[in-house]
Amino acid sequence: MKKNIRIYFYVFSVLLIAGNMFLGKETSASTFQDVPGQYQREISYLFTNNVITGYPNGEFRPNQAVTREEAATMIGRALKLDGTRQKTSFSDVGSESYASGYIQSAYQKGIIQGDGNGLFRPYDNMTRLEMAYLIVRAFNLNETSAVNFTDMPTNPEAAAVVNKLKTAGITNGYPGNVFMPNKSITRIEFALMVARALNAEFRTADETVKPVTKYVTADVLNVRSGPGTGYQIIGKLTYGSAILVTGQSGTWYAITYNGKTGYVSSAYVIDQPTQTTPPNQQPSKKKTIAVDAGHGGSDPGASGNGLVEKDITLDVATRLQKYLTDGGYKVVMTRNNDTYISLDERVNYAVKQGADIFISIHVNSYTGNSANGTESYYYNGGNHATESKQLATFMQKRLVNELDTTNRGVKTNTYRVLKTNTIPATLVELAFITNSEDAKKLGSATYRDKAAHALYLGVIDYDNWDGNN
Ligand SMILES: [Zn+2]
Repeated sequence: MKKNIRIYFYVFSVLLIAGNMFLGKETSASTFQDVPGQYQREISYLFTNNVITGYPNGEFRPNQAVTREEAATMIGRALKLDGTRQKTSFSDVGSESYASGYIQSAYQKGIIQGDGNGLFRPYDNMTRLEMAYLIVRAFNLNETSAVNFTDMPTNPEAAAVVNKLKTAGITNGYPGNVFMPNKSITRIEFALMVARALNAEFRTADETVKPVTKYVTADVLNVRSGPGTGYQIIGKLTYGSAILVTGQSGTWYAITYNGKTGYVSSAYVIDQPTQTTPPNQQPSKKKTIAVDAGHGGSDPGASGNGLVEKDITLDVATRLQKYLTDGGYKVVMTRNNDTYISLDERVNYAVKQGADIFISIHVNSYTGNSANGTESYYYNGGNHATESKQLATFMQKRLVNELDTTNRGVKTNTYRVLKTNTIPATLVELAFITNSEDAKKLGSATYRDKAAHALYLGVIDYDNWDGNN
């Protein structure tokens, strides 16, 4: 018996070593010699997800222009559209064209358009403005903000599209605050935009931060080789550890770790030294949490796949109430049955009841099946922008972890329940009711409970963070 076990372990470890060798090979194959070092992570991500390929000699040719048919193919692969060659709606794209499947699929989804005369112009170079349209449509980017490119398109619709692209953190433009809408997009620019659209962790940080010491608030914090949970764990930090933050990539901090660069989630890092006792052992005055189940009564919210938003939000809110109450929090429910309550009434009631934070629960929707994932909002104004952003960030991280949904990121918005609130507030969009995979989760009691548990953990994260602030 013993011997058998030993043989089994021997075989198992050989398999493990072989597996690692294979992974090592894969990684080196996705490293293109002609891609600048700072972009290798994004390119490698796209390569391993089969969105891009290189040239047979191992080059990526980053500065080469992208034709419209190449663009359609890459975006089609990114969105996993049907790439089977087929007859298209364009007279200049025959069914024999390698891109015909992706062009037609993307056209049917409203992601790409022709020139209005039945032509797609497959061999023309794609401009940066055309690319902006493509990404904004493909990934359903809706949020706008004050954008200061000095060469914004004069056409208001085109200007709005560039604004949305910038607001979502997909582009920073060029130095001097220019976007260059009419310039042909290069392969590297195209690839970076797609990577950022697909994975919020690649989205552009405002600036490189000056190295600064910060402190760990998690009991154990993983240090990873890159800015995302998909990267290898290269070490662990314990509660209260001081770290030197040298940069930021999305929600991840670059830190100096054992003389090398490592990455940690910014959600578990604060500016001030932590107290000596871990937060979960500190006696703390428990907060009052306002739980706002979105919609209700005559306002059903969104619907899709046989589900209605107001039912899902109430169920998740009720489950969250139970978690919070069991955890010793006081809870204020803005509604606990299927009734209509105005947005202002919700906020006023929560504040009057002495709530410390406000969590509004919603589900997302979009025309078509493709949009999916989780996003969390806060209002970037008023007296609680910092707290609200932190609250939204904790919720987003916990939701994505528990629901295993696409991370669409933490975003700003002027939603009324956020903007008019006088306490830190977040609005979470759990998932898309219009996406079949997301809807499966929203329709499952197990997943609704996971969502509630994630929000509960987010409250604890926030409480710990706030207690140390
Ligand atoms: Zn809603």
